[in-house]
Amino acid sequence: MPELPEVETVRRGLAPAMEGRRIARARQMRPDLRRPFPPDFELRVSGTRVLRLRRRGKCLLLDLDSGQTLLIHLGMSGRMLIEDAAPGAFHHQRAAPRRHDHVVFEMEHGARIAFNDARRFGAMDLLPTDRAESLPPLAGLGPEPLDDSFDAAALRARLAGRRTPIKTALMDQRVVAGLGNIYASEALWRAGIAPSRPAGRIGAARLERLTQAIRDTLREAIAAGGSSLRDHRQANGELGYFQHAFAVYGREGLPCLRPGCAGTIRRTVQGGRSSFHCPACQR
Ligand SMILES: [Zn+2]
Repeated sequence: MPELPEVETVRRGLAPAMEGRRIARARQMRPDLRRPFPPDFELRVSGTRVLRLRRRGKCLLLDLDSGQTLLIHLGMSGRMLIEDAAPGAFHHQRAAPRRHDHVVFEMEHGARIAFNDARRFGAMDLLPTDRAESLPPLAGLGPEPLDDSFDAAALRARLAGRRTPIKTALMDQRVVAGLGNIYASEALWRAGIAPSRPAGRIGAARLERLTQAIRDTLREAIAAGGSSLRDHRQANGELGYFQHAFAVYGREGLPCLRPGCAGTIRRTVQGGRSSFHCPACQR
């Protein structure tokens, strides 16, 4: 499932083709994704200009010049595929529509951007831009982990009194926006905190380390996504999924990568999700 770094990578990949540009036509291939499209979706999006392409947590936000914000959630497996028409290129030279292309944005300058999702857990909404943050699904989202407002004190306030395991708490979008299974596992390993530790019982110094670990983990993944973007654009136009070396995620039975640690990575199941940690150096 795409988490903050993947969504940010998609945003950066889409920006040159969408920001400041007009959507000549939006085409919707089916009545719903995870939930129905907003009424008159094609009509309300076609002909608008994208003023800004933002991200909040795992959501992409396109501020349109109609005063509406188009919210795109990639769900479990949603992808954005982009085909640029080279100047003078003929449209019929492009690939035929793919299976599972559920929404297509035909940009005025010729690019074709498709939302493709085999599992249909994604979603699109239209929200009034001036009130978007106060409406679901944006209302109630926790702080952006890469913003200055996210620090140990902010995290501590949101974890206070919680007995849920810290990993489950970090995946709660109300605590901090954008983390999922992978980056929560990675950040906890980096901070040396066991994923099962009750969230409200982590001391100030360790929360400080955790805050920094979350930021570092996400920043490195975004950097990896940035390099993948340069490769991908030459390949099939898919944005946002990239090979990234994880320290614990998916490494069950392998030696811990922390220098001086002799531990072996263990997989447990927490809240129905696989969790990976090193029992030797995560407490
Ligand atoms: Zn270890």
